Amino acid sequence: MPVDTKKLMALLQWYKQSLGEDLVAVLVVNRDGLIMDSLVGASEKSLDEEIIGGVSALVEPVLTRITEEFSSGSFGTGTFDTEEYRFIFCESGPEAVLVTVLNSLSGVDAVFPYAYLAAEKIARIMDGRTVSPVIPKLISGPGGNQIQRKVDKVQKVKIKSKEYAFKLILGGDGAVGKTSMVHRYVENDFAKDYKSTIGTSIMKKECSFEELDSTVRFIIWDLAGQAQFKRVRQSYLANAEAGILVYDVTNRVSFESIDKNWYIEIKKSSPNIALILVGNKIDLTEDRIVSCEEGESLAENLQLTYIETSAKTGENINDAFKMLALHIIKRYIETQDV
Ligand code: GDP
Ligand code: MG
Repeated sequence: MPVDTKKLMALLQWYKQSLGEDLVAVLVVNRDGLIMDSLVGASEKSLDEEIIGGVSALVEPVLTRITEEFSSGSFGTGTFDTEEYRFIFCESGPEAVLVTVLNSLSGVDAVFPYAYLAAEKIARIMDGRTVSPVIPKLISGPGGNQIQRKVDKVQKVKIKSKEYAFKLILGGDGAVGKTSMVHRYVENDFAKDYKSTIGTSIMKKECSFEELDSTVRFIIWDLAGQAQFKRVRQSYLANAEAGILVYDVTNRVSFESIDKNWYIEIKKSSPNIALILVGNKIDLTEDRIVSCEEGESLAENLQLTYIETSAKTGENINDAFKMLALHIIKRYIETQDV
């Protein structure tokens, strides 16, 4: 089916207008990184071809890397930083990826909502469906939080009744198994040498409860690395509705770090977050140092539910997410009705 290139260009123009000065370039590429359409930001002084040529050389290898990290080839959204640029990759239907290139100092938080909207519209254009190329203004004041809140609202309104979508984050020291848990939950797989190269990867996963006639849609944000991504940490932790605090049962420092660091930091950024506590790597019975009782007692102090998991064997992984979803449904229903 021929793509309505006029409409695609109109959409990119709207997108460019929405992002303003921060935008270096926007590209629509196929899964191999080949450019289907592109536009250069308003503040760029160099030749358009130079800019596009320069960034597209970076797009292909990064896209390949992101796609390889997710064995299914589907990654949702990913960000990637170079010295000069910040990239946001947004899947746009099965064929296209929207690549937004920002100045290295721009915040991605305010851009995400627009990127999601634009990517969704591009998918529809590719599909030959009718869609308006207009991107509505989501900004109502200074600061990214307001925008995020609005988008959260938009998302919730869009979701049909008894269906909810929530931002889920994971807190815990490096190497406790956060990424492995997400990977196990989303892909039902355990990759032994999983090393993330992406700043933040964002995945969607639905958790259904037939008994309750409900579906919780998690938008799972997994932050890669620790200190080197301090810049994105604040936006990563903010406005989350669900969180999993993870420690490694073979590592006492990671256990102590939960109430010393992670609980406090997360509560500060997202005061109303629904949290659970997870002791991971229970398959390593010989190396276990933190007992089940200690985990339970910490959970009791923090007034959280406690569950023990193994991302390696898959034990209790689904249940951990399910438990969190239940907490959220309960809370959501409590605040919604009457
Ligand atoms: P993150 O830094 O918290 O995201 O931790 P990762 O998911 O990258 O995992 C760190 C290391 O622990 C990796 O080598 C994983 O293979 C390993 N790992 C994660 N979960 C488990 C588990 O449940 N059991 C065992 N034995 N190893 C695990
Ligand atoms: Mg990780």
